[in-house]
Amino acid sequence: EAGNTRTRRLIEAVAATIIEHTGELTELDSAIGDGDHGQNMKRGMTAILDDLDAIAAKPLPEALKAAGTQLVMKVGGASGPLYGTLFMALGKEIAPDPTRDDLTHAFAAAIEAVKVRGKSDAGQKTMLDVLVPVCEALRNGGSAREIDEAAEKARDATRDMQAQKGRASFLRERSIGHIDPGARSSQLMIAAVIDVLG
Ligand code: ADP
Ligand code: MG
Ligand code: MG
Repeated sequence: EAGNTRTRRLIEAVAATIIEHTGELTELDSAIGDGDHGQNMKRGMTAILDDLDAIAAKPLPEALKAAGTQLVMKVGGASGPLYGTLFMALGKEIAPDPTRDDLTHAFAAAIEAVKVRGKSDAGQKTMLDVLVPVCEALRNGGSAREIDEAAEKARDATRDMQAQKGRASFLRERSIGHIDPGARSSQLMIAAVIDVLG
């Protein structure tokens, strides 16, 4: 399969699942935030789809950087710059036709960039609580199914955490009992990528 066909399928799958789950992401963010995560992410993904021909024509690293730029410009909120950083850093680090090792290295570097940008780390009830365990599963040689399950488990585990970053942290202990919206959007995107590549 040509690289640009794969890039196109990846983008379409990621955008489709986010757009399909706009309502759920909004509900999750309504419980512990300001209720805009679904619309924020939908806006970003729609911008990427509008630019799909141009983005998918680029080599993978440049396509990821272009997608990240759209997310920074269009998503807004806390998650826009963070997902933008994730995609742009992934583009900066990844090989044009990556091996699993390349992917693992690039994903780990991109997560570090998110941590710097967000002044955050795993354990604070954010998207990092999905991204970090997924990277671990990738590094440990997990199968597609194992990585998928690690992401779901990690998403669910944010329910019992108390938020320490972002708007949800204002609720202190009242943030406990709800899945983090960014953890859910991260898990949705990972499931879509696995669906295409796995
Ligand atoms: P906002 O909170 O500005 O309305 P969104 O609702 O789009 O932005 O995104 C909220 C999500 O962003 C949270 O659920 C969380 O996963 C993530 N998030 C917020 N702050 C941080 C941070 N400092 N580091 C990592 N992720 C964060
Ligand atoms: Mg919000
Ligand atoms: Mg907001």
